[in-house]
Amino acid sequence: MKIGVLALQGDFAEHLTVLRRLGVEAAEIRLPGELAAVDGLIIPGGESTTIGKLAVAYDLIEPLRAFGQQKPIWGTCAGAIFLSKDAQRDQPLLGLMDITVQRNAFGRQVDSFEVGLDIPALARVSKENPPFYAVFIRAPLIESVDAPEAETLATLEDGTIVAAQQGKLLATSFHPELNQDDRFHQYFLTLVDS
Ligand code: GLN
Repeated sequence: MKIGVLALQGDFAEHLTVLRRLGVEAAEIRLPGELAAVDGLIIPGGESTTIGKLAVAYDLIEPLRAFGQQKPIWGTCAGAIFLSKDAQRDQPLLGLMDITVQRNAFGRQVDSFEVGLDIPALARVSKENPPFYAVFIRAPLIESVDAPEAETLATLEDGTIVAAQQGKLLATSFHPELNQDDRFHQYFLTLVDS
């Protein structure tokens, strides 16, 4: 199994570190031709408009869409925005996931926060399944999960959706690559493996 991390902008290095810690072969992806060598792809956090514009410049939009129709993709934060079909702004999107997101929904950089989330799906990789300590940095919220086959994986206490899955596509508002808890990466690997 080999996992690619889209390395146009953002915190791709942190995802590569987690994958290697888990003993998984991982590669930076910058060119369309590099996608053929990987079985799943992570799109990191960063700045979604920048990632989208660079993806257009590198002719990656259609190859990424084709990849996502066959293989797992997980977008974290800006990556989740880029995966969505609607960010309520004019910016390049893959439109692979039937979710509507709201960018910078929790305020500015100084309003970044961390919270323990109950994520039942992670029971698949962790029997005891303690709360997942999630880091939000100028994060988007998932306003709606719009396809019948898509599901909500995690919400804040007030019901705000912060993680969703649609088949082999995953979106998280937060940054699982920024703590030492690798369960979300392990969960993604189960999608790649199935
Ligand atoms: N605020 C960024 C955006 O809207 C996302 C921030 C992040 O990825 N941590 O694209």
